[in-house]
Amino acid sequence: MPAPEPAGPAAPARPAAQAERIGLFGGTFDPPHNGHVAALRAVSEALSLDRLLLVVANDPWQKSSSRAITPAEDRFAMAQALAEGIPGVEASRLEIDRGGPTYTVATVEALRAEALASGRPLPQIYLVIGADLLADLDTWERADDLRGMVTLAVVSRPPTTTGVQPPRTAPPGWRLEWVDGPLVDVSSSAVRDALARGGAVDEMVPVAVMHCILRRNLYAVDR
Ligand code: ATP
Ligand code: MG
Repeated sequence: MPAPEPAGPAAPARPAAQAERIGLFGGTFDPPHNGHVAALRAVSEALSLDRLLLVVANDPWQKSSSRAITPAEDRFAMAQALAEGIPGVEASRLEIDRGGPTYTVATVEALRAEALASGRPLPQIYLVIGADLLADLDTWERADDLRGMVTLAVVSRPPTTTGVQPPRTAPPGWRLEWVDGPLVDVSSSAVRDALARGGAVDEMVPVAVMHCILRRNLYAVDR
């Protein structure tokens, strides 16, 4: 039997893979607008993320009972047009392809499962929200589970038309980072209202989104 080889120097330990830092900016995006652009730019500047996903809700169940929502594929096309203008931002089909009512907790679980399935560590997920959503976080589906899996990245939003200033604090138990950027006083509702009145929205939505609205004949815009 040959003599055992003398043990060579130990192989250098492979550096442990770094957890990916993912920003998840979900919404109805009906339509996406310059407030969303400002939020994405501020987050991308503040958080050194590996990926920043603009995730289009399939069925925003907290809204869809009170108004007609533009079909998901049209909202995705607009989100894609918006994302193309911002380096590092990808429009994501995760929630549309999953179908059904949109629960953010399921999207977060899908991102974690994807990482584990490919042998990567669990990602660090920043859930990007406008400050107007802070107060209602605990009404979200399985909020208790969601709370343990994300850090909130909260973007300031101007007071609503009723003058209500969104709170500066989250309900107890949420990890939170404030991302300060320019306050942009635009909402999708205001864009829809302006389009319905035949008004100009050039200051509210990027040109690429407006082209998409015209190309797909959305919001009954006919010009
Ligand atoms: P709507 O008027 O229909 O409610 P919206 O403008 O609030 O639409 P959503 O698609 O509901 O847009 O919002 C997606 C995300 O973007 C939410 O986290 C929301 O708080 C945030 N957001 C929307 N508008 C702004 C803005 N002007 N500045 C910062 N964040 C915003
Ligand atoms: Mg809203």
